[in-house]
Amino acid sequence: AAKRMGSGGAVVFQDSLHQTALTALRTEQDMFLAIQRDEFVLHYQPIVATATGATMGFEALVRWKHPERGLIPPLDFISLAEETWMIVTLGRWIMETGIAELATWRDRDLTLAINVSPRQLGSGDFAGAVRAALHRAGIEAPRVTIEVTEGALMDRAAVAQLHELRAIGCRIAIDDFGTGYSSLAYLRHLPIDIIKIDRSFVTPLGSAPGVDRFFDAIVGLARTLDLRIVAEGVETVQQLRSVKAARCDAAQGYLFSKPLGADERQSRYPGSRPVNSDGAA
Ligand code: C2E
Ligand code: MG
Ligand code: MG
Ligand code: MG
Repeated sequence: AAKRMGSGGAVVFQDSLHQTALTALRTEQDMFLAIQRDEFVLHYQPIVATATGATMGFEALVRWKHPERGLIPPLDFISLAEETWMIVTLGRWIMETGIAELATWRDRDLTLAINVSPRQLGSGDFAGAVRAALHRAGIEAPRVTIEVTEGALMDRAAVAQLHELRAIGCRIAIDDFGTGYSSLAYLRHLPIDIIKIDRSFVTPLGSAPGVDRFFDAIVGLARTLDLRIVAEGVETVQQLRSVKAARCDAAQGYLFSKPLGADERQSRYPGSRPVNSDGAA
């Protein structure tokens, strides 16, 4: 609020801090109730193979359907959920809901990527909970990718869980790659299958030769480590061309689709229908 008021004095600043604290507190209480009231929903964004254009799977992205405030994006509540440890409960719900939803998809080859925060990964037996959820849903572990940011790699407990998850058969992806402190050399010692190159490297593609060369170098290096590479935030045909030229395995972004509600996803991606007795699809 202080920012919007422009040149505010100390009083305005303090007042805005107070407001922020109040809002945070309210959101924390709201969040606790919201889990019980089932106000969170998952949206699903396709991840597309660059070589064929085929949809390989979807990333689950949480939203809060607030009764008064409308649809709240994750950036407005995930960090608060992390600070208050609410993420452990919320994250469990996200993981279980996503896997249960995956079990309803007709196409049995589709994968689901689930975002997991470091705190959630480091507390309790997350890998055990994933194993149980997979078992309940009858889903093979390799169809599930766990996305973590580079920050999770700094936490011992989180890394131990990543090893567990990989032992179960889940895939591990590093999200927003390039925005943190980890180098590809460091990743070499970690249980990782996929890197998702952050949108900030994808957005400027095609605008200058140096930009594409840099991107090509990251992809090339990742390839030497046997990692699959996903480009995030592809919005234009131009960017897709560069992503293909760099030989990225997959791409994700508004060019293909925005994240879709579960029903919208089902109707847009009905999957292969069972062939009926007339032989018609
Ligand atoms: P992320 O995991 O990197 O997810 C990608 C974000 O980029 C999503 O924003 C998605 O809607 C957005 N996006 C996709 N394609 C494009 C594009 O072409 N252009 C632009 N400008 N944006 C695009 P969203 O859903 O608002 O999520 C933001 C972040 O919140 C996520 O970044 C992730 O870090 C976090 N998040 C979302 N869902 C979850 C969750 O279930 N659990 C946890 N722990 N974090 C989550
Ligand atoms: Mg992600
Ligand atoms: Mg990302
Ligand atoms: Mg991102």
